[in-house]
Amino acid sequence: MTFKLLLLPGDGIGPEVVAQAEKTILQLNQQFSLGIELEYALVGGGAIDKTGTPLPEITLSLAKDAHAILLGAVGGPQWDTRNPNERPEKGLLQLRKSFNLFANLRPAILYAELVNASTLKPEYVTDLDLMIIRELTGGLYFGEPRGVEIKDKIKSARNTMVYDETEIERIAKVAFDIATKRGKKVCSVDKANVLEVSQLWREIVTKVHKQYPTIELSHMYVDNAAMQLIQRPKQFDVILTENVFGDILSDSAAMLTGSIGMLPSASMNDAQFGLYEPVHGSAPDIAGKDIANPIATLLSVAMMFKYSLHQPNIANMLEDAIKQVLAQGLRTKDIAKDASYVGTEEMGHAIRKVLLKFN
Ligand code: NAD
Repeated sequence: MTFKLLLLPGDGIGPEVVAQAEKTILQLNQQFSLGIELEYALVGGGAIDKTGTPLPEITLSLAKDAHAILLGAVGGPQWDTRNPNERPEKGLLQLRKSFNLFANLRPAILYAELVNASTLKPEYVTDLDLMIIRELTGGLYFGEPRGVEIKDKIKSARNTMVYDETEIERIAKVAFDIATKRGKKVCSVDKANVLEVSQLWREIVTKVHKQYPTIELSHMYVDNAAMQLIQRPKQFDVILTENVFGDILSDSAAMLTGSIGMLPSASMNDAQFGLYEPVHGSAPDIAGKDIANPIATLLSVAMMFKYSLHQPNIANMLEDAIKQVLAQGLRTKDIAKDASYVGTEEMGHAIRKVLLKFN
């Protein structure tokens, strides 16, 4: 079996962190004869500069042939003045739409070695390991009607939060399936005391839960969830929620872990095709300086091995190698306590060196 992976380095620090992923994948491929083939393509600002569009046809066609995609990041100040349809981020949105990537998986894990990097006291976050499952292609960001209108000289704007039961059912299944392989708890977050959409959400999640008797299901209003994430984050295993609530809660959860340079993500469809990317952006302020943390991207690679390539052992090895390197005291600048830190390349190299010991 051959696995085709498409690498989309993108802009800013994207190429630097994806270079570490590429070297790591090639090493693992050789070490464990995984049959991985890599392809490369343009996306984002670099693609606009070279082809006039953020998602060139050739990129889309290579993506259709791939088993999974690894993306660095897109965007930068040089493209910020363009209109929204011609900006680098549009390439990413088109990719999500083309492949119907409705399930966004964002783990927030705090490694014991980095407990002081969190803004919360150690007793609240030590051993934190939660997963947010956010619906990514429906709800308020996509609902119609939307737009701005002027009536009787008064300007108004409207967006629509809408979900049908099939959209809720498929994302609920993803959450329950993932919880089955983790702590067996799902907390579904909604605003059912006010919103009809949330009442339907709760009804369907409760119905789907009947197929998963081993999973404990709870429901929480989103305002309470925002509070509980800060007050008692370790109560959560899997949080299931809709698009806009998930957008906000996943950034809060991210900050519990200290650095955005540590956080991976996956966006998947029904066929377990996934787009894997670090949560961070293109960080133009540090691009080209060899100081970006490559761990978020390497953890995204681990997610890719787990969810799209069905190689959980390789995923565990990679996560383990990252933990070992952190335990050795190696830090990139964003997670360093003092002035001693290593660069992007050196961090990647250290992780690959540990990986070589596995067989
Ligand atoms: P950002 O995530 O790029 O950077 C925020 C801060 O975190 C910066 O100080 C940056 O130096 C730091 N940082 C980010 N990643 C890091 C890493 N791996 N190691 C160490 N430090 C890191 O967010 P921003 O500054 O708001 O956005 C910059 C550009 O990225 C914008 O053009 C934005 O549109 C784009 N963006 C893209 C994505 C994406 O591609 N998925 C996501 C968010 C932002």
